[in-house]
Amino acid sequence: MSSSSVIKGGFIIRASDAPSDAPSAKMQLKQLFDPESWTYTYLLWDEDTKDAVLIDPVDIQVDRDLALVKELGLNLVYGINTHAHADHITGTGLLKRQVAGFQSVISTASKAIADVHVDPGDEIHFGNHFLSVKATPGHTEGCMSFVSDDESMVFTGDALLIMGCGRTDFQGGSAGTLYDSVHTQLFTLPESCIVYPAHDYKERTESTIGKEKAENPRLGNGKTKEEFIEIMANLKLDYPKKIDVAVPANMKCGV
Ligand code: FE
Repeated sequence: MSSSSVIKGGFIIRASDAPSDAPSAKMQLKQLFDPESWTYTYLLWDEDTKDAVLIDPVDIQVDRDLALVKELGLNLVYGINTHAHADHITGTGLLKRQVAGFQSVISTASKAIADVHVDPGDEIHFGNHFLSVKATPGHTEGCMSFVSDDESMVFTGDALLIMGCGRTDFQGGSAGTLYDSVHTQLFTLPESCIVYPAHDYKERTESTIGKEKAENPRLGNGKTKEEFIEIMANLKLDYPKKIDVAVPANMKCGV
């Protein structure tokens, strides 16, 4: 039986079959990597119902993602973007063309087109599992992070990277806002909660909230908001190579 829905303020805005009350297996995870944009895509699913979601799919990896979905016998219901990316084009538009019933999801705050818009406090249900939606703006105005139902995993997009964070100089970014997002929405999660970012440039695959709080050189280890703003103002980063192509495309599911 399959079931999926997004619950907003107690209202189910999309649902198929009702979730069962039977105890279910832990949320399943596969972490996938796109070497061109250094992007991690996450496939999450319920082992009992086979309902699945993709977080941050990449357009050039859609065939890989669909082959894995088929191999695992999954029913792909949502493609969720943590934000409108500047460094690659999302795969959600291509997936919509290829998977019946598949819906794209992004934050209302992103102002991007999608089938479902989520806001802080919403829950994205698939099978017997769900992701809760947290607003973590600062890298972009519309950045969201997604926490697994048992708080064992958080998908942080570019808000919190392993020993780093996304830049804050484009797309309505703000260092002060990002500092507050990380400290109030992410560093308040359990220390053991595994951090799965949207990118890593050093082949690291995961971190934990405890480790980032203690050691993140920009945001952790007692760094103040003023110190963080100063660090971010002095990064001297190049203009993002794909931003002029990727952002307009990602405002409409990449197609
Ligand atoms: Fe980004």
